[in-house]
Amino acid sequence: MRRYTDLTELQHDLFNGLQTCVAIVEDHLNKIESKSHLNAFLTVYTDEALERASFVDTKIKQGKAGKLAGLVVGIKDVLAYNNHPLQGSSKILNGFISQYTATAVQRLLDEDAIIIGRQNCDEFAMGSSNENSAFGPVLNDLDNSRVPGGSSGGSAVAVMADMCRVSLGSDTGGSVRQPASFCGVYGLKPTYSRISRYGLIAYASSFDCVGIFSKNLNDMVRVLEVIAGPDDFDSTVSQQPIEPYANKPVKTNGKFRVACFREAIETSGLQSEVKATLENKIQSLRNAGHEVELIDFPLTQYLLPTYYILATAEASSNLSRFDGVRYGYRSSQTHDLQSMYKKSRAEAFGKEVQRRILLGTFVLSSSYYDAYYTKAQKVRRLIRDKTKEIFSTYDVILTPTAPTTAFKLGEHSANPVEMYLADIYSVHANVAGVPGISVPSGHDKLGMPIGLQLMANDFEEYKLFQFAEMLSNLQ
Ligand code: GLN
Repeated sequence: MRRYTDLTELQHDLFNGLQTCVAIVEDHLNKIESKSHLNAFLTVYTDEALERASFVDTKIKQGKAGKLAGLVVGIKDVLAYNNHPLQGSSKILNGFISQYTATAVQRLLDEDAIIIGRQNCDEFAMGSSNENSAFGPVLNDLDNSRVPGGSSGGSAVAVMADMCRVSLGSDTGGSVRQPASFCGVYGLKPTYSRISRYGLIAYASSFDCVGIFSKNLNDMVRVLEVIAGPDDFDSTVSQQPIEPYANKPVKTNGKFRVACFREAIETSGLQSEVKATLENKIQSLRNAGHEVELIDFPLTQYLLPTYYILATAEASSNLSRFDGVRYGYRSSQTHDLQSMYKKSRAEAFGKEVQRRILLGTFVLSSSYYDAYYTKAQKVRRLIRDKTKEIFSTYDVILTPTAPTTAFKLGEHSANPVEMYLADIYSVHANVAGVPGISVPSGHDKLGMPIGLQLMANDFEEYKLFQFAEMLSNLQ
């Protein structure tokens, strides 16, 4: 089967009768089967996807096809799809079936995209390696002894290995950008509130964003245009109109003003090849006439603590709904209401999720609330203000996406703080609420992908795409 570089090229063949959606879906299904050892999908909607493909083929023939006709999409197991299983890769939601469809998923369906399956991830999107899933880890397709990143590991690997064209994931602290970087694909976290969170399992509601994985920017731009924007089901979603991203070429000859954080480059935990990639790109940008400046961001050391205090606080509240009463897992060893709650939660939540609930409950407890939660809220505001200030002078901030390339399975499992350090660059965009994208930018000596991250001001996704496109073509 011919590899189409983007959806536009594929649709050219679909609309001219040279290709069918059924054949495209079959091709992805074959990939899913031959790469099943990677454990990227929890459920594959084989028959349904083929049926839908044939339905879309008919619409194409009738000239009634939607904007995303022929786009095969996988969805992370945190997005609701009516009458389909949904578990957040957790045992506590065993047997749960969605009663409705997430807005982002519905908008894809309305434009004739084809959903091929539900993808593995870290339990309730908590993790950076996809080793916290109740369904076992996901493996990196380039080296099966290495992780794909997390928490949307299955979604990243599925795009990397052509099991689908695009994946929808979620990004609360880096869960789209970090695995995109480990798997050598593009990963977008839009501005907070750009895409409705209706139907997205809540982890930390003031950080959670639906994000997009793809192998090229054109597909990402077209998907964002369809799924972003106001939604009656989510009162926090922005009313800001959507730019017609898909109709504007992302190519530009414009010159950018770029900020790089000195702290991000000079940190000791940065893998030498990642550092070299960043430094080479900075040089190439300068050679091409862009202005790149190293600036200080003295709040860098507060990014991770702020994120991990606030995200766990919100998680402890959000996850209290999983109690074994109305749905999902219930312990059989219970004798009264209290023990039912306790045992069901103790038996069904994984270690990392329990750790976060405990941490979050602690920072919200009356004796420590002001010292941790209130303080972290204040620091968050400072971080947002300082970040916005940078965007009054610069177009984009350029950093590595992650300090290292994909690490070995088990390498950081014993020490949660080591694992949290994988998010050191990515949490910034979530704490500040601004958009960020990971751009595939090279490989280390072992051939593992390196990603660079770009951040821009609120609602400047289009500028990110333009810069990402330019950066991707820079030698
Ligand atoms: N790795 C981060 C965490 O575990 C980010 C997760 C995410 O973005 N969902 O919290």
